[in-house]
Amino acid sequence: RIGFEDVSVTYGNLTVLHSLTLTVNPGEVVALIGPSGSGKTTALRAVAGFVRPSSGRIMIGERNVTHLAPYDRKIGMVVQNYALFPHMRVDENVAFGLRAHGAREDVIRQRVPECLAMVGMSAYARRFPRELSGGQQQRVAIARALAPRPQVLLLDEPLSALDAQIRRAMIDEIAKLHTSLPNLTVLYVTHDQSEALTLANHIGIMRDGKLRAFGTSQSLFRNPPNRFAAEFLGRAN
Ligand code: ATP
Repeated sequence: RIGFEDVSVTYGNLTVLHSLTLTVNPGEVVALIGPSGSGKTTALRAVAGFVRPSSGRIMIGERNVTHLAPYDRKIGMVVQNYALFPHMRVDENVAFGLRAHGAREDVIRQRVPECLAMVGMSAYARRFPRELSGGQQQRVAIARALAPRPQVLLLDEPLSALDAQIRRAMIDEIAKLHTSLPNLTVLYVTHDQSEALTLANHIGIMRDGKLRAFGTSQSLFRNPPNRFAAEFLGRAN
């Protein structure tokens, strides 16, 4: 699981996350949506360890990771314009992630083709990133994030740079991937409601650094807990 326990984040004297409490249960996908600047990425970066909370705790499984370095947190992360290393071939990019986690060479030799197969990229192992489409690059980025077998996958708008048709195909692929990895806990930041609806068990709606609504997509749409949630979901009355 991923647990935010009363987590606040400040930049200088600006509080961008206010006492966030939220749990993503093991094997669940939670999507965070909300307007630009509402704190979604900051929440994700706090889990990844790139941002340090000014108060509160971050839990991964039963571990309090609040003070651990990013590499010790056993998470995988994919961001919007995930820069694959341009001078490394696809398989070398995936291997690099494993090596950074201290994997042995025999494990790497086995795991790299396995992960590329998982995202349908086996045929592209020897290509350079510049020889791939945007969607293919994101698949490699996902393979690289999953290669060390993290308990937790953080996705920060992984599809927003892709055009609509490819994005729809990728949503289906991510859904399938998650079915094949039922223990993987996923926190997914997006500004695309249909992405959230398709992929997430629960959706959190953020505004001004606060979680304003949380629930299943059905419950939020049928019964938005406040006017902001209703308006944001496009069904104010
Ligand atoms: P978007 O949908 O536009 O990506 P978001 O909901 O992910 O937005 P964040 O990126 O978490 O929002 O930003 C929340 C607030 O924190 C914004 O007001 C932003 O300007 C501010 N912020 C983010 N990073 C920093 C930083 N390194 N220094 C100062 N302020 C920051």
